[in-house]
Amino acid sequence: MKRKVILFFTLVCLIAAVVLIADIKSIRQSEIADDDSLPVITDIPASPETESVKESSPSPEMPEKTIYLTFDDGPFMYTDKLLNILDNYGVKATFFVTDQNHDYVDLIGKAYEHGHAIGVHSACHKYKTIYSSDEAFLNDFRNMQEIIMEQTGQYSDIYRFPGGCSNTVSLKYNKGIVSRMVEFLDEEGYVYFDWNITSEDSEGLDSADAITQTVIEQILELEDNYYIVLQHDIYDCSVDATEQIIKWGLENNYRFDKLDTESPTVHFEVAN
Ligand code: ZN
Repeated sequence: MKRKVILFFTLVCLIAAVVLIADIKSIRQSEIADDDSLPVITDIPASPETESVKESSPSPEMPEKTIYLTFDDGPFMYTDKLLNILDNYGVKATFFVTDQNHDYVDLIGKAYEHGHAIGVHSACHKYKTIYSSDEAFLNDFRNMQEIIMEQTGQYSDIYRFPGGCSNTVSLKYNKGIVSRMVEFLDEEGYVYFDWNITSEDSEGLDSADAITQTVIEQILELEDNYYIVLQHDIYDCSVDATEQIIKWGLENNYRFDKLDTESPTVHFEVAN
């Protein structure tokens, strides 16, 4: 009888031990499950959202700032060298052309063939003539357009006033002529461009280094995303400066482009 009691007691203890072990196990499993759920919860906001933010923000490698190199008063004897420089760097520029040096007029066609933009500047580029009357201005404008047509097979739809639209020289010859011509250009669908960076190549700067430095300083000072640079391809030093400006621009993550009617414009205040 005593043996039976001991056996029964042992059995009860065994069952109790088994139940206890099972309980501990289930507690541990639920703790493990809780632990597992923690990283799952923290992972959800961490990974996909950060990635989508990265995708929507612009890559630091993507250039946002655009330099529009523009050359007035040519073509001339340095224009061909300029075209080679532009080709070497794959840069497209804009030429506001004249017929001042008729021997070089075929370079308008060459510039166009090489992918550059051709804009009207003035056939004769004589302020006294073009700003003397509306008729004289329009005659000169049309003369230049005909030359552009001969050279490129099409008329141009972009324009730059000799002296810029803010010039006061024209006041000497005809009051209100620039205002009337701005209206004419708008009505006919032409877009005219002034500039927000000047190389000062026609204001006394006569070395490539000085011109380059002037252009770079102005670009760095201007808080804008586009830079319309005024240069003249009738000056050797300005053409040489172009290579330095392009090198600096490309090294500093700027892009270069030519102007068209959809480009950002710079307009000075019309003074006459
Ligand atoms: Zn000019």
